[in-house]
Amino acid sequence: MSNCIFCKIMSKEIPSTIFYEDELCIAFDDINPQAPVHVLIVPREHVATFNDLGEDKKELIAHLCMVVNKVAEIKKIQDPGYRIVINCNPAGGQMVYHLHVHVLGGRHMSWPPG
Ligand code: AMP
Ligand code: ZN
Repeated sequence: MSNCIFCKIMSKEIPSTIFYEDELCIAFDDINPQAPVHVLIVPREHVATFNDLGEDKKELIAHLCMVVNKVAEIKKIQDPGYRIVINCNPAGGQMVYHLHVHVLGGRHMSWPPG
């Protein structure tokens, strides 16, 4: 999508800190980190929200989960742990309408979230 910031990061039109990429997704550091480790995992395919993940996206969903594990290993947060967040639509706090998984770590996460 031409006016999508994450599509532009994917095509390297906008600089980022991509540290992992494969055939289905990329991972880079959030520009406004909410924790010492704050990574965004973004599918190459422009899927707008979590609501758009249907039967046909099962492989992608599983892949993103597998990449969360890889990112946690790369960033050395598997132990003591981390949090995964996907914001969906305005009430969920979504700002960028290209599906992404937040991986947050490096500090204790409180509950309930804000
Ligand atoms: P969300 O509110 O779930 O849509 O999250 C969007 C995230 O994208 C926020 O945490 C932003 O800080 C992050 N973000 C926006 N622009 C950039 C960028 N150019 N590079 C890295 N992260 C970004
Ligand atoms: Zn996009």
